[in-house]
Amino acid sequence: SDIGSQKDRVVTEEAWLQKWETGNIGFHKEQGHPLFQKYLDVLLNGRSGLRLFFPLCGKAVEMKWLADMGHSVVGVEVSEQALKEFFAEHNLPYCEEPVPEISGAKKLQSASGNISLYCCSIYDLSSSIVGKFDGVWDRGALVAVNPCDRQRYVSLMITLMEKNSSYLLVTVSYDPNKHKGPPFYVPESEIKSLFG
Ligand code: SAH
Repeated sequence: SDIGSQKDRVVTEEAWLQKWETGNIGFHKEQGHPLFQKYLDVLLNGRSGLRLFFPLCGKAVEMKWLADMGHSVVGVEVSEQALKEFFAEHNLPYCEEPVPEISGAKKLQSASGNISLYCCSIYDLSSSIVGKFDGVWDRGALVAVNPCDRQRYVSLMITLMEKNSSYLLVTVSYDPNKHKGPPFYVPESEIKSLFG
């Protein structure tokens, strides 16, 4: 479980913005992630009308699917381009408003009101701003966070969870000395110690 040279790697917000600008977004899945379909029932557990959170959301199509099922979706993403592409690609009208608690942040909300996407860093959020969630879809999020920020990220995520919430986490397993990431390799033992 040695994460080798990855533990000191840092990808800046500017570098993420640049990936979006140059279309270097190989992580985006136009057809959604296969594990989403496979484990959707675990996430929902028979419940309806849930509040679901997408950390580091990009333009994940699963947000649209869950909203269409009657749930309400909140995402956070540093790239405004990603969020605008999301609404455009699904032909969803939306409105923009500032977020009074976070300087420079914007909230883009679908006209129907059931998809709210915050354009800011996830580290700017708190439960007093976004509330708590019944479920989390974490794909390309924990594994995209800089290794030095993992504990901070997970501690924040825990504060955003309702008592009976479910958390679907997708990770990737590979030799971290052969690729620099992201996605970073997060050993199972570390996941256990991070989430407790
Ligand atoms: N979860 C999405 C995107 C994964 S890529 C999917 O499954 O397709 C990771 C995304 O996190 C990128 O879009 C990047 O712009 C965004 N990001 C990186 N650091 C962030 C931060 N601190 N706060 C919010 N978004 C961030």
